[in-house]
Amino acid sequence: MKKSILAIILIGLTTIALKSNANSIFDGSKTNFIDSAKKVLVDPVCKMKIKANASKTTVYNKVTYCFCSESCKQKFVAEPTKYVKK
Ligand SMILES: [Zn+2]
Repeated sequence: MKKSILAIILIGLTTIALKSNANSIFDGSKTNFIDSAKKVLVDPVCKMKIKANASKTTVYNKVTYCFCSESCKQKFVAEPTKYVKK
C-alpha cells in the first residue's frame, strides 16, 4: 500500500518537472526570436553587449538599437550611418 502511494507521488513529480522544463525551453526560444527580430543587443558605438531590458534605445531603419549609456546613444543619433552597416 505504501509503495504504490510513493510510486504515484514520484510519477506526479516527474510529470511536473518535465512540464516546467518544456515551458522554460519554449519561453526561452520565444524571447530570443523577438529580440533577434526587433532588437540589436550590442551597442553599435562601443560594441558592448547590452541587456535585453536596456533603457537607452533608439530606432533606426525599423531596428531598435540599445546603448550602454546616453553618450553612446547621442553619438549614434548624430551619425547613424557611421555605425550601421548598409
Ligand atoms: Zn556604449
